[in-house]
Amino acid sequence: MKRVLVVGAGIHGLVTAAREHIAKNQVFIVEKRKRIGGRGTSEESFGHQLEHGPHLLLKGGELHKMVKKLSKVKPSLRPLRPNKILVVGHGILYPVNNPKEMLNLKMGRDQVRENALRLISGWGQDIPERRKALLKGRLCVVGEGWAGLIGRLASTLEEVGVPIQTGMKITESYEGGVVTSKGLKIEADEVRMCDGAPVGDAIKVATLDVVLDNRPLKGLHGLVKGDVAILDLAAIHSKKAPGMSHFSCIALSGGVDAIEELLDERVSGWRSHIITKRENKSITLTDSRGHLSDGVI
Ligand SMILES: Cc1cc2nc3c(=O)[nH]c(=O)nc-3n(C[C@H](O)[C@H](O)[C@H](O)COP(=O)(O)OP(=O)(O)OC[C@H]3O[C@@H](n4cnc5c(N)ncnc54)[C@H](O)[C@@H]3O)c2cc1C
Repeated sequence: MKRVLVVGAGIHGLVTAAREHIAKNQVFIVEKRKRIGGRGTSEESFGHQLEHGPHLLLKGGELHKMVKKLSKVKPSLRPLRPNKILVVGHGILYPVNNPKEMLNLKMGRDQVRENALRLISGWGQDIPERRKALLKGRLCVVGEGWAGLIGRLASTLEEVGVPIQTGMKITESYEGGVVTSKGLKIEADEVRMCDGAPVGDAIKVATLDVVLDNRPLKGLHGLVKGDVAILDLAAIHSKKAPGMSHFSCIALSGGVDAIEELLDERVSGWRSHIITKRENKSITLTDSRGHLSDGVI
């Protein structure tokens, strides 16, 4: 049995800790913030959970498998449908009712739709597995949100007695342990860094999550224009803001202004229907290995 210290209680740290526990190692986690979850946290506002932009779970991916293995109740998933996403000025993302456009897409002759598929499936990253999953209905909105998955992992770790020490920042690691910002040395046989720090240049995006008291997209799952995507989580999953809209938006460039510009263009009057909103002017997209988490974690 090894003593394994996991640094960081984001999704990567929690999954790493669960794996180490399953491998019968003695695990403990340290987290610098007061709250666990990292970029997977949510904020409750007016009865709605607002996260850091749209997160889609790869059904059958490593994260989904791990959550299913650890939980008694399966997470409730609903697929994002590409035939319900509008590429502004171009048409439906996956034009099943238009054989000519479908043929163009399949023959790789439709760069606009290709870019939109890349945007939605990998938030601009080329991830063939997620692209395929989007087209097959396996890229899903999680009813309880990304933060709900974090909660499931954390409560399982608590049940099996894996301690999570919050409010403790690691400033140095050495062969055989780590040092905290208060100079405390913690010994471990192995240190697993899951601090979310990107290797190389971080990919930064802007996000906006906004709940409206109406349904202006009338059942569409989303809109795409250039580098900006707006998903209506409430149209995709009935657990999210029933009867309303829950727009979870991302812009690869142009910041929150680019998102609001698209909303102004396509959802006139949206500002007067806002119940609550949360924005990130700049947030790192990928984990410390440069990936989205759910397929590789
Ligand atoms: C808009 C957006 C959409 C996304 N969509 C998806 C998606 O659809 N699917 C998907 O799989 N992923 C998605 N991601 C990526 C996913 O959110 C991240 O990959 C994931 O949250 C990163 O988890 P992590 O644990 O590696 O890092 P983080 O969540 O950043 O967690 C790191 C933790 O380590 C702690 N920490 C840092 N330094 C120290 C230290 N020195 N000492 C102690 N603790 C420390 C931090 O406080 C934090 O809690 C998306 C991200 C964004 C921004």
